Amino acid sequence: MLALCLVFVASLLTLPAGAAQPRPIVVIDPGHDLHANSATEPIGPGSSTRKIKDGGGTRGVVSGLTEAELNMRVALRVRKLLEAAGIRVAMTRARTSGTSMGNVARARIANRAGAALFLRIHADGSTDPRARGTHTLHPAPRPGWTDDVYASSKRAARIVQTEMVGALGFPDRGLQERADFTGFNWADVPVILAEMGFMTNPTEDRQLSTPAYQRRAAIGLCRGTLRFLGRPPARGG
Ligand SMILES: [Zn+2]
Repeated sequence: MLALCLVFVASLLTLPAGAAQPRPIVVIDPGHDLHANSATEPIGPGSSTRKIKDGGGTRGVVSGLTEAELNMRVALRVRKLLEAAGIRVAMTRARTSGTSMGNVARARIANRAGAALFLRIHADGSTDPRARGTHTLHPAPRPGWTDDVYASSKRAARIVQTEMVGALGFPDRGLQERADFTGFNWADVPVILAEMGFMTNPTEDRQLSTPAYQRRAAIGLCRGTLRFLGRPPARGG
């Protein structure tokens, strides 16, 4: 499937001058950071309900890899693939070295960039080691907060979920609507949160800790993003 992304790049390069579309920008948000952040922030603009900025994410039950670092490894691959396909990319963070900035700050980066998609990359954790599979979260419609980005976010979630399941081969846990995600409620652009797999499941953790599976995840995220942006990879690659 990398071939499909690459064939598309080749087809872009052969476009006649002047035929290129304006280049959209995608903001990639590798979830979490080296340290959690227990400070609180409002779950939406003007809200008196507050949640902690970042609980810190999960960790590979076999690999010991932190979720923050797995998210980063995949995000850097997605950036490379999207840039090769002519998409501009901005990152909320480019290294795993500090205290998590929290979700309002992440959303503001995407808003200021005018992102065509705010792509949040995460992996899941559960107290049940049997829990496994890929799912994608998107905002619930909340008047004044997310009603304007609900439909586009849901469409993006559906497409990216399909491509991720195809690329990773993990069970399809479908989509989930969330009204309580700070990073969704503050977003003024289409936003999704991809949960690639479960780091608390020994099989998925072992797989996701390998470069081969990180590449698969990145290809699925890249293909889904390109399809959402109406720039599908070329056929037959
Ligand atoms: Zn996470």
